[in-house]
Amino acid sequence: MSLCDLGLKNKAVRDLDIPEVPLVKLDTLWLQIGGTLCNLECTHCFISCGPKNHTHEMMNLKEVQGRLLESKDLGVRDYYITGGEVFMNPDIFEILAAILEYGPLDVLTNGTLITLGKAARLREIQSKSSHRLQFRVSMESFDEKLNDLTRGENSFNKAAEGISNLNSFGFSPILTVTRNWDEAKEAEMEEGFYNFLKSLNISEPRVKILPGFLLGQLAVNTRNYLGHEHVTKECFENYDITNLQCATSRMATKTGVYVCPILVDNDKARMGETIKETLHPFPLAHSACYTCRITGMTCKSN
Ligand code: SF4
Ligand code: SF4
Repeated sequence: MSLCDLGLKNKAVRDLDIPEVPLVKLDTLWLQIGGTLCNLECTHCFISCGPKNHTHEMMNLKEVQGRLLESKDLGVRDYYITGGEVFMNPDIFEILAAILEYGPLDVLTNGTLITLGKAARLREIQSKSSHRLQFRVSMESFDEKLNDLTRGENSFNKAAEGISNLNSFGFSPILTVTRNWDEAKEAEMEEGFYNFLKSLNISEPRVKILPGFLLGQLAVNTRNYLGHEHVTKECFENYDITNLQCATSRMATKTGVYVCPILVDNDKARMGETIKETLHPFPLAHSACYTCRITGMTCKSN
C-alpha cells in the first residue's frame, strides 16, 4: 500500500473529501514565456510541447513586464521561466533583463539552442544585475542513444554543447532529469549524471531528478492515472500540505494565471486573469496532485 492509497474509497466519497491547499505566501512566480512551443517533441513531455503546439502562445516582453509589475507588491522572492523552450522566444534576452530587475531567476531550458554567442550575451545580462541568473538544462539520459530515443535525434549532443557553452561563460547549469528507473537504480543513475557533468568540466555539478507526471505525451506513451490515484484529506494527516509548491507559487501564462506549472493544460487549474485573483486556496482534485504528494516533489531548483 502506498503512502496515500485510496483504492478502497469510491469516487463520491473522494469528491466530498478533496483537500484545499492554502496559499501561504506567494514566494515564487513562474512565467510560461515559451508557451507550449518547443523545438523538441519529447515522448515524455507532460504538456506535449512541440513546434506546432499553440495551446499556449509565447509571452512577449510587454506581457512579462505586466506580470512583473503585478508581482511587485505581492512579496514575490524569486522567478522561474519555462515553456516549451524559452530560447525560441524572440524577446528572450530582454525578458531575462526585465525579470532580473525584480529578483533572482531560474531559466528552464532544453539547452539545445544555447550557442557560445548566446551564452556570452547571458553573461553580459548577468553582469548588469545584482540578482542571480541560473539555468536548468533538461536531458533524459547520460547515454546518447537513450536520450535521443526520448528527446529526438542529436538532442544529446546539442544539449551537451549548450551546457558547455553556459559553463564557458561562468554558469554552472543544473541538469534536470525525469525519473524513468526503479528505486534500486537511483544511486547508480545519480552517479551517472554527475559523471556526465564532470566529463563536460562543469565546475559545480548539480542534478535535479523529477518524477514523471502521467499527463500529455507521458500518459500517451505509458499509462493514465488510475482511479485510486487521487488525494483526499487523509493524505495530509501526517504530511504538511503547505510543503506542496502550490502553497507558495503561481504560474502566469499568456492567457491567465494557473495554480502551478504542471496543470497548464487543465482549464480548472486556471485561477484567474490577474495574479491577485489567484491568491486563495486551490482544491487538489487532479490526479497529478497525487504525484506531488507521494513524491514530495517541487518544480523549484531546491
Ligand atoms: S520535455 Fe521540455 S524539451 Fe521536451 S518537448 Fe517538453 S518542453 Fe520541450
Ligand atoms: S499538481 Fe502539484 S503543484 Fe499542481 S496543484 Fe496539484 S499538488 Fe499542487
